[in-house]
Amino acid sequence: TQAPVNVTVTGAAGQIGYALLFRIASGQLLGPDTPVRLRLLEIPQAVKAAEGTALELEDGAFPLLAGTDIFDDAKQAFSGANVALLVGARPRTKGMERGDLLEANGGIFKPQGEAINAGAADDIKVLVVGNPANTNALIAQAHAPDVPADRFTAMTRLDHNRALAQLSKKLGVPVSEIKKLAIWGNHSATQYPDIFHAEVAGKNAAEAVNDEAWLSDTFIPTVAKRGAAIIEARGASSAASAASAAIDHVYTWVNGTPEGDWTSAAVVSDGSYGVPEGLISSFPVTARDGKYEIVQGLEINEFSRTRIDASVQELIEERDAVKKLGLI
Ligand code: NDP
Repeated sequence: TQAPVNVTVTGAAGQIGYALLFRIASGQLLGPDTPVRLRLLEIPQAVKAAEGTALELEDGAFPLLAGTDIFDDAKQAFSGANVALLVGARPRTKGMERGDLLEANGGIFKPQGEAINAGAADDIKVLVVGNPANTNALIAQAHAPDVPADRFTAMTRLDHNRALAQLSKKLGVPVSEIKKLAIWGNHSATQYPDIFHAEVAGKNAAEAVNDEAWLSDTFIPTVAKRGAAIIEARGASSAASAASAAIDHVYTWVNGTPEGDWTSAAVVSDGSYGVPEGLISSFPVTARDGKYEIVQGLEINEFSRTRIDASVQELIEERDAVKKLGLI
């Protein structure tokens, strides 16, 4: 039998953590044959709550869960980690400037990058969920010089899934019939969900929709502002859907994308599509042999170009701001 895979989850006592941990323990992160050991990281004042979740995990009697350990120290939590889900982050509070937000998160993601560099397993895969996810991932990556940069990713899979759902409703087809959708840029309101390469039951999705006004005035803002709509309806931010997308992101990374399809993830840019090298930006990606790769050679029309550039510009500004703060 296989040795358990060490999965480190930060912010484990939070909302997303609560939904995520049970999915991991049940085998949905890595597959039904892979045992997992959970390593939970929390800030000291949330350790007790994490311990409560660990009791519930025990009560799940999950056959694949080899154990749960709780830490308030990053070095210990990431020691031997094969997969790291960085969920805990400093949320933006009223009156907080963007610089303050980036600085507060730098204080979290810099030591986590260092801890990953110092003690994670050689095959470590990192997914950053905590916002601002792309730039938090960049900070962590900058402090892990001994880890290949492509092991650091940020989540845009929820945006991808939201786009799939909206397009499915518009065209009255099941999500399973939609292929090759793409999210570009930052996981923020500037993100660009692109349907120009998407296929619906074998036909081009943009042609099937044939309604540019719907694209720019309904589809794009609905996907980009879905988080706010959930808060409005639920009285709390999305959690189970974010956890579900994190599961999808890692599962695909490990198990690959199906032939003839791709997904979306924020990965380190190699300069493709005019996205500056080194930025962690969302692209259409395939996964094979445990690696995400940017889909190459897509034609980008004017409509898409403007929107991709705007989102990438925001990433450049975030990068420059954290550089100025000495965080990268
Ligand atoms: P959540 O579990 O709801 O969210 C965690 C992070 O995920 C936030 O940064 C949130 O960003 C982000 N996120 C990304 N995508 C989404 C999405 N689609 N919907 C909602 N959130 C999304 O936060 P909680 O406050 O419930 O829990 C956070 C936990 O993290 C706390 O228990 C806290 O103690 C812990 N923490 C741990 C740290 C550590 O381990 N070192 C450091 C800091 C905090 P946004 O705020 O923009 O919604």
